[in-house]
Amino acid sequence: MSLDRDEVRDVVAAVRLGNPRALGRLISWIENGSPALPMIMKELAPDTGHAHIVGLTGAPGVGKSTTVTGLVSALRERGERVGVLAVDPSSPFSGGALLGDRVRMQEHALDRDVYIRSMATRGHLGGLAVATPQALRAFDAAGFDTVIVETVGVGQSELEVAEMADTIIVLLAPGMGDGIQAAKAGILEIADIFVVNKSDRDGAQALVRELRTMIALADRGPQDWKSPIVMTVAYQNRGIGDLLEAIDKFRASQTETGRAALRRIARARREVESIALARVRAEFRLNGEAGLEDLAMAVSRGELDPYAAADRVVVGS
Ligand code: GDP
Repeated sequence: MSLDRDEVRDVVAAVRLGNPRALGRLISWIENGSPALPMIMKELAPDTGHAHIVGLTGAPGVGKSTTVTGLVSALRERGERVGVLAVDPSSPFSGGALLGDRVRMQEHALDRDVYIRSMATRGHLGGLAVATPQALRAFDAAGFDTVIVETVGVGQSELEVAEMADTIIVLLAPGMGDGIQAAKAGILEIADIFVVNKSDRDGAQALVRELRTMIALADRGPQDWKSPIVMTVAYQNRGIGDLLEAIDKFRASQTETGRAALRRIARARREVESIALARVRAEFRLNGEAGLEDLAMAVSRGELDPYAAADRVVVGS
């Protein structure tokens, strides 16, 4: 798909003004890996860096969509413009209703200051590591104060998406498999805030106790922040205010200690690395396949060592 310059310029201008249709188009281009993206991102870069990115993850059914709906309402009440990006790393579908979209759409459908969008990244060149941060940039440039990036708690990609956020929330619920055991290793260590949703159910207190023990044992390195546990009953909107308060506190603490800026730099580093790696792969696909085949043969025969072969690919020597 080739886009003409005027079209790109119009969309960029409209995104800056927060136009939801333009934002939707831009996210589709990101999803499809449009060749115009480098140009668009260059234009939008000066408009980014303001949004607070909140990552929310948890196993299917813990209540992510319900919680996000509640959070969006709470943020709207204090006048924020709110974006939601739902990333389903396992789904090949795009732009449609993923992750409980329909329910949320109904509640916030008429609100121009809320934009909810699902994104599929399977099959994307560079995958979710490239597409997700670009979509978050698009929301940011469109002037959203808070962008919630929601992802399903399955697999390694969950961690990847969570790490793109300024504040990471991990949702658990009683009666979901083996409680904490059901959550993936790694994700518990990076949670800034835990939510035990479905606190109206048996087992919620036990889950909180289990979680407390785990937090006490976990080694998060030198930190002044102790990840709190917020109990919620999302479908009755209970505890959502406490969750928002915990988010605000965490954000203030991160800003005060300078960790917020460090996290953003780490995020940018991963972003650049992902794009660079995707480019090398794309280069392979376009030009390098035959060359790579020859190199592989030479390495397998012992005529060339793999480091020298890699040099020929990367440095072209
Ligand atoms: P997701 O798959 O993590 O996005 O979960 P959903 O938000 O779609 O919620 C899954 C189901 O749990 C729905 O039927 C919700 O109505 C229900 N649910 C959400 N929050 C609560 C809660 O606090 N208590 C109970 N008992 N059910 C809830």
